[in-house]
Amino acid sequence: MNRVLVIGGGAAGMMAAGQVALCGAEVVVLEKMKQPGRKIAISGKGRCNLTNNADLSEFISHFGRNGRFLRQVFQDFFNNDLIRFFEEQGLDLVTERGGRVFPAQGNAPDVVKTLRHWLEGLSVSLRPDSAVEKLLVRNGKVEGVVCNGNPVYGKSVILATGGASYPATGSSGDGYRLAESVGHSIMPIRPGLVPVVTQGDLAQRLSGLHLRNVGVRLLISDPADGMNRRNRPKKRNAFGELLFMKYGLSGPVILTLSNEIVDALRADQQVQLVLDLKPALDEQKLDARLQRDFRTRHKEPMHSVLRGLMPEKLVQVCLDETGLSPDTPAGEIRTAERKRLRFWLKNIPFIVTGYCGFKEAIITCGGVSLKEVDPRTMASKCCPGLYLAGEVLDLQADTGGYNLQAAFSTGWLAGRSAAEYC
Ligand SMILES: Cc1cc2nc3c(=O)[nH]c(=O)nc-3n(C[C@H](O)[C@H](O)[C@H](O)COP(=O)(O)OP(=O)(O)OC[C@H]3O[C@@H](n4cnc5c(N)ncnc54)[C@H](O)[C@@H]3O)c2cc1C
Repeated sequence: MNRVLVIGGGAAGMMAAGQVALCGAEVVVLEKMKQPGRKIAISGKGRCNLTNNADLSEFISHFGRNGRFLRQVFQDFFNNDLIRFFEEQGLDLVTERGGRVFPAQGNAPDVVKTLRHWLEGLSVSLRPDSAVEKLLVRNGKVEGVVCNGNPVYGKSVILATGGASYPATGSSGDGYRLAESVGHSIMPIRPGLVPVVTQGDLAQRLSGLHLRNVGVRLLISDPADGMNRRNRPKKRNAFGELLFMKYGLSGPVILTLSNEIVDALRADQQVQLVLDLKPALDEQKLDARLQRDFRTRHKEPMHSVLRGLMPEKLVQVCLDETGLSPDTPAGEIRTAERKRLRFWLKNIPFIVTGYCGFKEAIITCGGVSLKEVDPRTMASKCCPGLYLAGEVLDLQADTGGYNLQAAFSTGWLAGRSAAEYC
């Protein structure tokens, strides 16, 4: 039977199915949830950052070492192709800060609607409530699947089941088991782009506070070395928005650093985050600013002067951490006290003790080993007739629209190749 089966109706699966149909082959999408595209519908805080307009080299750099795999894939279908695709389907897009591309109306479900409408127009058969439990293999080749207990046959199968994060959207890690059953190796999966858990109650005291322009220094060291000066810890700096949670830290700047943090903690390394509330001012400039403020407002008590330097919620914490007295007039602050304040403003330390689980992870790091997938076709090197696309693969990127583009691009290529295989 010249039919392609697509397992999973997410970004990769829907794009793949449409491409199969455009190539003239029959296609059936088996989706375990009631509706396809549930993750797309909640992506980008409900706005769906569907790609990024970065050039190829920069785009690939956001995937780390494994980004090389995508060079070939993106040659066939890249960000400009995806933008053109959606605009041709009548979805207006807008490019925002950092090259992030969103639907102009800012409504993620519109992306799903657009994809569904496109598939309907191509007469793609989409079967909801269809959970695939098993791949059927004969003479070493895939010949179908077992879905809700029944066999469904096809000449080729595209595995587009997503990762293991946000399992309530349907992607609960089934794809790893299915891929493993036909000989694929799975690189250890772990939560990616996740909030982190910190020691002590400082984060809890500031819970709900949102800071826009924060510098964050990530320090990673081996336990034997500690954070001492002689064995310098590995450092990485980031800048952006941060959110204090009851249990730790979140927000874009933390998510960006989180994959490295997760790997370090899993390797039993020590992880510390140091916040810089005044990243635009070096120590000297900050000192000059404090001296000026203290001079011009010399009669005002410190608690009032500090309000000009930081959000209200931070003031009491700052007083406690620096030992400054709230009622001392600014003009009476001694040099040593000012230095203490200056140091604190640029160095608020948090020991990181853990990270959130898959339930709260934006992506899954790890997955089907890229060594076993042909980047020219997305064909499995372990099982002829099987193709893989999307987050089930060992591909992970920063926030910014990179992950969805990877899902759409690998889906596009898998669809074209699987149709040809028929
Ligand atoms: C809260 C959140 C926000 C995000 N925001 C963005 C963003 O703005 N930009 C960005 O680039 N990325 C974002 N991402 C990541 C992005 O959504 C994913 O990387 C992308 O959706 C992966 O696409 P996929 O098709 O591989 O998997 P999914 O979109 O997860 O789709 C997989 C589909 O397979 C189905 N399925 C699973 N197992 C089976 C089975 N056994 N049988 C049948 N069907 C099955 C699932 O139900 C699901 O519909 C976000 C993720 C989350 C969780």
